[in-house]
Amino acid sequence: MTVYEGFEPVIGLEVHAQLLTESKIFCACQTSFGAPPNSRTCPVCLGLPGALPVLNKKTVAYAVRMILAVGGEVRRSSSFARKNYFYPDLPKGYQISQYSRPVGSGGQVEYILSNGRKKACRINRIHLEEDAGKSLHPESGDPYTRLDFNRCGVPLLEIVTEPDIRSPEEAYAYLVKLKLILQHLEICSGDMEKGHLRCDANISVRPKGKKKLGSRTELKNLNSFRGVEKALDYEIRRQIKILKRGDEVERATLLWDENRQVALLMRTKEESEDYRYFREPDLPELVIENEWIEEIRQSLPEMPDAKIARFIEQYGIRRYDAELLTENRSLADYYENVMAHFDNGQTAANWMLTEILGLLSDAHEGIGTFKVSPRNTADLLNHVQNREISGRTAKEVFREMAQTGKSVSEIIERNGLKQITDEKKLRLEIEKVLEDNPEQLEQYRAGKTALFDYFIGQVMRRTGGRAEPETVNRLLKKILEGIKK
Ligand SMILES: [Zn+2]
Repeated sequence: MTVYEGFEPVIGLEVHAQLLTESKIFCACQTSFGAPPNSRTCPVCLGLPGALPVLNKKTVAYAVRMILAVGGEVRRSSSFARKNYFYPDLPKGYQISQYSRPVGSGGQVEYILSNGRKKACRINRIHLEEDAGKSLHPESGDPYTRLDFNRCGVPLLEIVTEPDIRSPEEAYAYLVKLKLILQHLEICSGDMEKGHLRCDANISVRPKGKKKLGSRTELKNLNSFRGVEKALDYEIRRQIKILKRGDEVERATLLWDENRQVALLMRTKEESEDYRYFREPDLPELVIENEWIEEIRQSLPEMPDAKIARFIEQYGIRRYDAELLTENRSLADYYENVMAHFDNGQTAANWMLTEILGLLSDAHEGIGTFKVSPRNTADLLNHVQNREISGRTAKEVFREMAQTGKSVSEIIERNGLKQITDEKKLRLEIEKVLEDNPEQLEQYRAGKTALFDYFIGQVMRRTGGRAEPETVNRLLKKILEGIKK
């Protein structure tokens, strides 16, 4: 934990989560990523005169999911407001958001710090709003700034915390947990690098033990989890330096420059009055029936903390492994599907976290497109458990399964990889190895017992790794003892 001698940082985070709906929040345009510029627009999201917004019900359902998941209150009645400002990527000249009456408030997100300490951050509000477009700044040789309005009207959920966070590490832990919740709810990809999750931070610093908050700055353009941590640390140290000089921190909005690792002044802070918020006249009051809220509550999936506890209990695996497996919902689902056909939870967890994640990371792939089905993975693990193939062979077989999508037995059969368990056969192999290595045998008999592993290795080599290790071990011991006497 970073320590700021004599000072305490006070941090609040505003996260914008892009909702995974097919269409935009106030029109039927598609939200699909990577479409040609301005091909996903219509009079509504371009704000042409006379065009009227219609609220996408799914965005409300997603907001309700999130509010319930963090234990907040879903407001039975809320409203939309216009946030007015000029920017080239905002053709309407305003953004439809929620201001004084957001759809949700309260609740909290719990997270565990690296030292194992549990903490919670209260949620101030959760509201719906639309995204703005994108300015594409000139590359070399292009004299124009180009505008792409495809993102105008893409639904965002803004999640604002209370100023409960006390260090950059906590901010990081909070964000990781928030992402996990969003992913479990299947309402946001949580991909910060792609801008599907964006974070702004409010930071102030006060002398330790003081209640009164210092004046704060807002830090924008934080586009990676580690970036948030670094930027916060930078800003905290900058503010402490100012306070130590006896000066005051000026309220301002700063832009984090990831490449240079510095925060640059963007503007001295505008107040919310500057946006001239007023009630959106083209949208009615948003009224949510209790019945619908209950329906959504019933359909909520198991949340990450509950899942971790269940994995430990049900599959008997280590907490650390349960945390890794539940870090990603598809991975957790895959594991559970393997466990439907296999009975050793820890073995399956080890296999997933080393073999499968290893192959996926080599191929820059996600579990969603992995060629081996959970059923086939379970099949392989059962082959190992029944000693039909060795652990080493299993790894090779698995690699081939991942490349070809073929089943275990198909590959074993064709490549003759079946493990040799026949004692007669193995005894012959061992005797041959000892015969071929008289010097080593001599040394072994003179007391160099470490050569035992050497003999095992030779047997493995002769059998192409197919000798069943336990049996070889046992037989070799027996034979060597016989020779000793
Ligand atoms: Zn549109």
